[in-house]
Amino acid sequence: MDSMENMESVELPRLAKTFKYRLVPTPEQAQALELVLSRCRMLYNCALEQRKTWWERGQGKRATYYQQKGELPELKTACSDYAEVNAQVLQDVILRVERAFQAFFRRAQHGETPDYPRFQGTGRYHSFTYPQYGGGAVLDGGVLSLSKIGRICVRLHRPLEGIPKTVMISRQADGWYVCISCAKVATAPLPRTGRETGIDLGLKVFLITADGQAGEVIENPRHYRKAEQQLAKAQRRVSRRKQGSHRRRKAVALLKRQHQRVQRQRRDFHHKTALALLRHYDVIFLEDLQVRNLVRNPYLAKSISDASWAQFRTILAFKAACAGKRVSAVPAHYTSQECSDCGELVPKSLSVRTHICPSCGLVLDRDENAALNILRAGQARQARTWAETPCVA
Ligand SMILES: [Zn+2]
Repeated sequence: MDSMENMESVELPRLAKTFKYRLVPTPEQAQALELVLSRCRMLYNCALEQRKTWWERGQGKRATYYQQKGELPELKTACSDYAEVNAQVLQDVILRVERAFQAFFRRAQHGETPDYPRFQGTGRYHSFTYPQYGGGAVLDGGVLSLSKIGRICVRLHRPLEGIPKTVMISRQADGWYVCISCAKVATAPLPRTGRETGIDLGLKVFLITADGQAGEVIENPRHYRKAEQQLAKAQRRVSRRKQGSHRRRKAVALLKRQHQRVQRQRRDFHHKTALALLRHYDVIFLEDLQVRNLVRNPYLAKSISDASWAQFRTILAFKAACAGKRVSAVPAHYTSQECSDCGELVPKSLSVRTHICPSCGLVLDRDENAALNILRAGQARQARTWAETPCVA
């Protein structure tokens, strides 16, 4: 405990963090939010359209972010609908179009074949942003004041920390939410344990750690399977019902709620698992995977777990930064093929679950062997970077 108190006394790192709260709008306020959302969507599609037509006309003139932003005041006088929306919120819509194009061009430059930025239908546009806290959006106790909309009640389940920067309002399957991004949020370090580990993310089990010969296995929670089955059922229900019918709309709403539930369960599990690991270890090594490539995997179960890993890694890295611990990625080189005991390459396909080394006779679970290799690779890299650091006398 002593060391903890000492740590408290030194300046702790501060991080950016987003706080999310549920909004409790009155029916009129919900309608007003809905209206802003639809106008933002309209503007998004207009801005996209303009870029497209100007580009196709090809007169050397391209619609740009600054030009489109500059036209906003004019647009507001011409079309009274837009005048009812906060000016900065509209500017943010133009910025979203710009970002969509930047991402499109960046990926095209990297030799990929990205889809052209798409027009957003009613079901695809879910949020609008006040890019500056205080510029039209302020949280005051349990009330969020939004310019031109009103004062909306907030379920403030935890206090806001740090310096609020931006405010995003989003519509989800079960209602409205506000996300407030804050800078300089104080971190809370966890006590040091002096332990390091490598983790391998599995297909059957969620993950496995390298603790000498007694690797710890963290299973996928049992409710996953059940929730996934329910999800598949809800999906089938939607596809059975006639397009455009009232019954289908109802089924779609149910499916969205179901999706949300699964996502929340998974997120919760990731948070808890990450915290448990960080309580136990100071340094965690994991494989540097190209997640984007993995998600394209044609097998559904696999791609779901890949997406889930990506989220887990993000959460783990963020939590580690908050806790004053370290998560480090090591390049994935033969981590599942190499023998963790003697280094012999033992090639095996994905279906082979046990590592059996013909050279030293080591018999170990495939993932556990990989976790040990990841730990070793991480420690070797660390040793190298320390050796490479010039000694300042
Ligand atoms: Zn061996």
